Amino acid sequence: MEDKINKTEVDNLEVLYAISKIAAQAQDLPKLWGPLLEKVLEVLKVDAGTFMILEGDVLVRRASRGLGEEIMQEPPIPSSKGGISWKVINTRQPAVVTDLTREKVASKTIAEKGFRSLVSVPMMVRDQIVGVTSVFTRQERQFSEKDLNFFSIIANQAALAIMSIRTAEILGENRRRLAELEDLNQISKSISTLFDFEETLYSIVGSITKMFRSDKGVLLLFEHDSHLLEAASPAFGLSANQVRDFRARNDEGIMGQSFCKGIPIMTGQIDEETEQVLKRAKISDIKSILAAPLKVKSQTLGVILVFSNNPNNFLRDDLRLFTILSSQAAIVVNSSSIYREREEERKKDEALLTSIGDGVLALDKEQKIIHLNKAGEQITGFLAEELLNKTFIDSLGLWGKLGQPVDINDSPLKKVLENGKPLVTKDFYLKKRSGSLFPAYLSLAAIYDADDKIMGAIVVFRDITYEIELEQMKQELISIATHELRAPITAIKGYLDMILAGDTGGVSGETRETIAEVVKINQRLADLVDDLLNVSRIEQGRITIRLKTVELSALIQQTVQEYTPLAEDKKLTLLYQKNGSFKVKADAVRLRQVLNNLLSNAIKYTKEGSVEIKVEAKGKDVICQVKDTGIGISQSAQKRLFGKFYRVKIPDTRQITGTGLGLWICQKLVEMMGGKIWFESAENKGSSFYFSLPKA
Ligand code: ADP
Repeated sequence: MEDKINKTEVDNLEVLYAISKIAAQAQDLPKLWGPLLEKVLEVLKVDAGTFMILEGDVLVRRASRGLGEEIMQEPPIPSSKGGISWKVINTRQPAVVTDLTREKVASKTIAEKGFRSLVSVPMMVRDQIVGVTSVFTRQERQFSEKDLNFFSIIANQAALAIMSIRTAEILGENRRRLAELEDLNQISKSISTLFDFEETLYSIVGSITKMFRSDKGVLLLFEHDSHLLEAASPAFGLSANQVRDFRARNDEGIMGQSFCKGIPIMTGQIDEETEQVLKRAKISDIKSILAAPLKVKSQTLGVILVFSNNPNNFLRDDLRLFTILSSQAAIVVNSSSIYREREEERKKDEALLTSIGDGVLALDKEQKIIHLNKAGEQITGFLAEELLNKTFIDSLGLWGKLGQPVDINDSPLKKVLENGKPLVTKDFYLKKRSGSLFPAYLSLAAIYDADDKIMGAIVVFRDITYEIELEQMKQELISIATHELRAPITAIKGYLDMILAGDTGGVSGETRETIAEVVKINQRLADLVDDLLNVSRIEQGRITIRLKTVELSALIQQTVQEYTPLAEDKKLTLLYQKNGSFKVKADAVRLRQVLNNLLSNAIKYTKEGSVEIKVEAKGKDVICQVKDTGIGISQSAQKRLFGKFYRVKIPDTRQITGTGLGLWICQKLVEMMGGKIWFESAENKGSSFYFSLPKA
């Protein structure tokens, strides 16, 4: 049962679609009848059929199939002649005849053809009767209720299609028939459910354009994500490229005014702004424009524009009619699939847009802009077309952190275009269309041609105003927190030292041990705070590296001396055999920090054996190795070793305290000094950490 219903529904839909397709393709009524009738015959599986349309008080035969040529020569049938068709018209009910031979048939031809059965149904659009459709079979046939219903649906759809085409004809006809057009409002609602929307839009825009003696007409729809008015295709008298490039800000030019204010505008003079919009779309020689908002209820969907090369093409009277017609167009647009699709796309894009908000800009070798994406338009407030062929610096500018303008010959763009090395920076400010500057994240990369020559660059950019604000807040929080923590930690250390020195009276052996433990814990806390401070300084680029010539071996000797007691505590041998002088380019304070870290790790993670330091020169570098016979590092842990806060979690390391920040800091510091850091390790055998620094 359910199957049947569904099948019928599918059939209905299919036929409906086919009919609407036929209707949409026919530009005028004569071309509509034949194909429409053929579809009816095919669907109902009958031998012949005919369409008669009510015109005044006669029924005019508009098409017939399977009834011979001569039937079309018959005169229209007046109501006085009666017959089955007129009965159908008068009663507005279908008529079914199983045995035609017994009936009075108005048409002689049909009477002579010897058909057995007939069904006639009225063609209705709401309460209005348009005509009658009849079909015939040679064999006697019982038409079921369902057949009849289905036939009626088809006849009514056909009637609707006919009405719609008539409407389109009316649209194009004559302005004096303004009164008839008032009905359009209702009809276009049905058009929009039945027609091929693109065709409908095209014919509406076309009719309106011609009606106002013009040769170009277009709908500009408001795009929510870009806040632009963008031309919808199909447009009348414009090329695909012109439609693509026809975009305006929602307050720009005549179109913008009409959209913003919601009023129709007529002009015989093109202002400069409007001229710019037209120029971007390469539309020239426009002398007068009619613009009206596309309003549906309280919403304005866009504007309709008609242009002419004639300076005084439009008359005062035109404005009123144009306004009425634009509201018809708005109804079609509103229900049209184009608009719906755009809406859906907009929603999908919206999600994407928020996540991929980076501007992307392409430059040629002369630093001239050849492309700007939508996100870029949004960030800067410029339209891509406005920037094309202007240099980056002329349009978006480039300012340094201190607000000084950067010279075109000294810009990072120039560098990338010259040496092809990708560059990422947060050191510059760019200018928006409004004139305000914003701090930008810039990522620059060269583009190469087929011969591997640099032909331009891609610039990815982002407004980082909020990021910077956030960073600053974070930085403040950390510095306040660490500062607040540091002071009491130092104070605690001071008091504990006093106690241990006996300044507060005698300390028993047991208390001394406990206090020594508290000193250690306090030191750990101090280390943690220092590490955190270092991380935040590095991340914010607040660490200054002062490269000087440093004698590495001397520095190692000092460090080894400091760590000897710790190694002795663990019964480890700490070895360093000075093998000459190694001068490196480094920041002594930072280098000491690196050495401390590697040495303390080697001691911490070694249960027995030795920790040895070796230095050698290699090419332009000096390499330092810190080798231990400790617990080693598993393969899986090795991959993550330099990660922030990463600590290996195995039974052997559980008792060993640490923050997981040391190696991360070491890596950053070494890299900042122009060196590299790496390691080799085997579980339960030991590890070797290496770092290189440029020779001084
Ligand atoms: P932590 O403060 O935990 O020592 P690090 O960043 O200095 O932090 O080291 C990260 C992790 O790397 C350590 O937790 C430890 O598991 C491992 N590790 C570092 N150095 C060695 C080493 N010499 N031998 C074995 N494991 C090491």
